[in-house]
Amino acid sequence: MPAAPPAIPHDTVIRLENLDKVYQSGEEVAVHAVRTVSLSIRKGEFVAIMGASGSGKSTLMNMIGCLDRPSGGQYWLDGESVGSLNKNELSRVRNQRLGFVFQGFNLLSRTSALENVELPLLYSTHTLSRKQLHDQALQALERVGLSARAGHHPSQLSGGQQQRVAIARALVNHPALLLADEPTGNLDTHTSLEIMQIFQELNRKGMTILMVTHEPDIAQYCRRQIVMRDGRILRDEPVAAPLDAAEALRRWSRPHEEDAEAGA
Ligand code: ADP
Ligand code: MG
Repeated sequence: MPAAPPAIPHDTVIRLENLDKVYQSGEEVAVHAVRTVSLSIRKGEFVAIMGASGSGKSTLMNMIGCLDRPSGGQYWLDGESVGSLNKNELSRVRNQRLGFVFQGFNLLSRTSALENVELPLLYSTHTLSRKQLHDQALQALERVGLSARAGHHPSQLSGGQQQRVAIARALVNHPALLLADEPTGNLDTHTSLEIMQIFQELNRKGMTILMVTHEPDIAQYCRRQIVMRDGRILRDEPVAAPLDAAEALRRWSRPHEEDAEAGA
């Protein structure tokens, strides 16, 4: 029997108690990737998980995303103990409560942006008509400003646009939590800011976001920073004055305008 939850407040989305992950593969020495991590994340937070390569960020995210099981400790998602769920229940949780965004976008290359966004709906509900599927996917693309590109295939889109399709796909089931592992890792600075602007907008509208990044600049757009080292939480603190991505993008375009004026 899992221990009773330690009186979890109702607005807590994630509660981890002494979460552990040991990778044991064959004869090799075991890797203790995550060590006794305890953590609470409340609804509406925007959290960056930072730390050097190999510090356990992805391992922690994969456990939070129910993609991988902990070796020890406990995890409650929306008050539900995840450790006691079977494989089918875990995939239901993944599909209905979590949205995933990855560094490599992970879009299907032979289908349109719209069809990529429809996919999670096909898995989660079998009651939607063709038109409802289409409309909901289009609405999700609208939220990331890409409805005009709905018919494009990934190869016809820029990296930033592909990541926006991936964000729309993550949003289409109205998840309680958005998980992003190095979402700007493959993008240039300007495009990274565009992605952060979308995340900040979603967060302002109430979306809880947990994002892994090793870039301190990008973490400045979040509202809380957790730094990991050797599988443990080294630091966990609010960002005193989070930067505004929309403002940063406006400033970005200004020097070019000044250049144009100077040249005139
Ligand atoms: P980060 O995302 O911070 O770079 P990871 O969570 O990917 O770190 O990795 C943490 C540690 O766990 C590293 O030492 C890594 O080599 C190890 N590790 C990650 N995944 C596996 C795996 N599937 N099998 C064995 N070791 C792994
Ligand atoms: Mg990683």
